[in-house]
Amino acid sequence: MAIVQFPLQLVERRMIAPTVGHYVFQRNDGQPLAFIAGQFLQIHFDYADGTATRRSYSIANVQAVDAPAETTVEIAVSYVPGGAATALFEALDMGDTVQASGPFGRFTLQPSDANARYVLVATGTGVTPYRAMLPALAALIDTRAVEVVLLQGARTLGDLLYHDEFRAFADAHPGFRYLPCLSRGLPDDAHPDLRHGYVQQALPEIAPDPAREIAYLCGNPDMVDATFEALKNAGLGPAQIRREKYISSR
Ligand SMILES: Cc1cc2nc3c(=O)[nH]c(=O)nc-3n(C[C@H](O)[C@H](O)[C@H](O)COP(=O)(O)OP(=O)(O)OC[C@H]3O[C@@H](n4cnc5c(N)ncnc54)[C@H](O)[C@@H]3O)c2cc1C
Repeated sequence: MAIVQFPLQLVERRMIAPTVGHYVFQRNDGQPLAFIAGQFLQIHFDYADGTATRRSYSIANVQAVDAPAETTVEIAVSYVPGGAATALFEALDMGDTVQASGPFGRFTLQPSDANARYVLVATGTGVTPYRAMLPALAALIDTRAVEVVLLQGARTLGDLLYHDEFRAFADAHPGFRYLPCLSRGLPDDAHPDLRHGYVQQALPEIAPDPAREIAYLCGNPDMVDATFEALKNAGLGPAQIRREKYISSR
């Protein structure tokens, strides 16, 4: 069956890290985009030789729970040297249009979850699904006192995407613990919750407990594999660990 495509028109772009752009598109075929936080879109384009291809991008919209579907779509695009989609995104001007399809994916919070804590782990743009989940997480913290810990990996403070938003959310919601992990060292006046090292290295501090957790892992495939192994070794079963690997879909 042919995948239904729709046009997305660029209405806003800003850099949120040295090589990551936050893009806001308007779906301009008159339809809203209904999605569940954690899902992704696909962007369709052609290589220089005319061959059709596509790449996936997680939806970053922070949309209130039960709000009507929006017509704007936000994504974060990490620029990969020599990347085909990277070239497309870098060349986009305001008002330009790309073709998209979706939403797709099951990397979402499940209404049947009865866990005591969510452990969310991300590197790079892999944190985008968790940004979209914030309103739903706020509701779960309120209604069933679920705890949430977010381990966000980046090289430096300047590479931590949506850092201020996650910090503000953690300050407003005591049930949400935000632990950014910087692989290249900490700044002099580091916030007490900043950690030095990879996200996997912060796992012992949060003491993963098979009786309490559901974990979400998103981003760099090596990080996802290493964290999966570490959580398995801590006793979590595969059904307690949900994964989204950011690989090129060629
Ligand atoms: C479900 C899903 C969701 C995704 N969500 C996002 C998202 O929200 N934001 C986002 O930026 N990307 C996301 N990705 C990755 C994205 O789809 C593209 O793979 C990525 O943007 C690179 O595409 P490209 O065409 O620019 O590079 P390509 O032309 O595909 O690759 C160029 C070269 O770079 C290498 N490469 C590809 N990706 C990376 C990388 N991440 N780091 C280092 N080297 C790389 C390739 O192996 C190749 O050698 C997601 C992937 C999946 C599967």
